[in-house]
Amino acid sequence: MKNLLSLILIFVFLTSCSTLLRKRENSKPKSEIKEAPLTYTAKQEAPKLVVGIVVDQMRYDYLTRFYSRYGNGGFKRLMNDGYNLTNNHYNFVPTYTAPGHASIYTGTSPMNHGIIGNNWYDKMEDKVIYNASDKDYTGVGTDSEDGKMSPRKMLTSTVTDQLELHTQGKAKVIGISIKDRGAILPAGHAADAAYWFEGGDKGNFISSTFYMQQLPQWVADFNTSKKADHYLKTWNTLYPLETYTASGSDLNDFEKAPKGKETATFPYDLNNLRGENGNYSLIKGTPYGNSIVADFAVEALKKEEMGKDEVTDFLAVSFSSTDYIGHQYGVNSVEIEDTYLRLDLDIERLLNALDQEVGNGNYTVFLTADHGAVHNPAYLQSKRVNSGYFSRSNFEKQLNKDLKTMYNQEDLISNISNDQIFFNKENVRKNKINPIDLENFIATLIIDYMHIDKVYTRNALVSGIQADGTGRLIQNGFHHKRSGDVIFVLEPAVISYSKTGSTHGSSQSYDTHVPLLFYGNGIRKSSSSKRTEIIDIAPTISSLLKISFPNGATGNPISEVLK
Ligand SMILES: [Zn+2]
Repeated sequence: MKNLLSLILIFVFLTSCSTLLRKRENSKPKSEIKEAPLTYTAKQEAPKLVVGIVVDQMRYDYLTRFYSRYGNGGFKRLMNDGYNLTNNHYNFVPTYTAPGHASIYTGTSPMNHGIIGNNWYDKMEDKVIYNASDKDYTGVGTDSEDGKMSPRKMLTSTVTDQLELHTQGKAKVIGISIKDRGAILPAGHAADAAYWFEGGDKGNFISSTFYMQQLPQWVADFNTSKKADHYLKTWNTLYPLETYTASGSDLNDFEKAPKGKETATFPYDLNNLRGENGNYSLIKGTPYGNSIVADFAVEALKKEEMGKDEVTDFLAVSFSSTDYIGHQYGVNSVEIEDTYLRLDLDIERLLNALDQEVGNGNYTVFLTADHGAVHNPAYLQSKRVNSGYFSRSNFEKQLNKDLKTMYNQEDLISNISNDQIFFNKENVRKNKINPIDLENFIATLIIDYMHIDKVYTRNALVSGIQADGTGRLIQNGFHHKRSGDVIFVLEPAVISYSKTGSTHGSSQSYDTHVPLLFYGNGIRKSSSSKRTEIIDIAPTISSLLKISFPNGATGNPISEVLK
């Protein structure tokens, strides 16, 4: 017994000695620690670079309709060597560029990130505001309004923000697009840079003081090289015109010719047309707008040495000329077919540069779109598919007239935009009208108007869960503070737009169904028709990088995509 007690005492003594020794060792100043653990990196088998590609107004079926004409190094490489999600949708309305880009990168919908349109009516300021405009900053590389931009109206963080936070700002994050919002929203709030194209008489890539005080030398050099002039050449079809069998005839009633040209037909002599079509702005509406973005992205990759060190970098590239061309010529045009065949080559060029600079297998790419597009309704009518046109100004006149009859008031509505009716709260209050009664009155009134298909009130959207498909999409796009009081939905393929070209913005599948391709480091090779949502992209990339999700994320990682 005694012996056992001494043994225990000896054991306790030795244990406390070693604890003391360990404590002493830990209290040594940092410089004296010999064997430091491996340095922390975001790597841990993560890719050296993530490249997010967003194609503006790309319908899912552009992957399949033009498939046989794509080369092996562009879309097909991503589709066949990566993971192809064939049933990926927007889960909200309105399906526009700014809410689309914000949702891809924040992993949530406008109800949380607050980007409820490209432009929207700001109730506090009593005016329509632009999603990225910010008077607190000025342009870099320009003196014009085009540079006064920031992502500050986007309320939640992006996957690119989370990468910056995770790596103590060591990750390099750059956003690039023809459109300011296509560069700014993806790059996020903590980005190193966002660059976009200034048209008019400038033809330069610019930025804002939100990111920097001066353009880096390589950007200034790129601008000095005046590549934009080189691209303002003749746009002819890449292959003989008669081989464009995946679209309608080149001459038809559903397309709009540029100013100074009689018909919307090939060839387009851009150098001749630039004078009447906004000079360098003309490039935006041609496939060469995508080419110059690809050139600039490759230059950024090289000069910023992206994907070269242990810390994962992020390059967000948005190709937006596809949207301008879709708006002008429509979903079924030869111009769209040619644009995608050429974009395929630009994407191949970008992937080849990534192979060369970062190495195949060291980078991860995803490709998606910010929204789809509707077939031109006049074209659909020629095929006897239900469709039509809706006049917003007639709608507004009729509504104000009916409200006058009911309430004997002229000014109960402040604004109608993005299919939302905003009340003039002051007048509603002054006239002692219960806003919920007014919401309900308008809802029961306008459902009888021509081409109105569904109506939702603010009260219904904030007080209950919408179970049905469209209602859920409306609710996901409804920001409690920023959105309007009554929201209406037009009938399928009914648009408020010119008789030529295509547009988007609705909850219908032609606007919500977009490609989703993952490729490269950490990505399995397969495909799936399981339904996925646009808000799943950021959580999937976050999981791949083993970093926190964006702070408002409501999507889920698409786990089968990841190795
Ligand atoms: Zn558009």
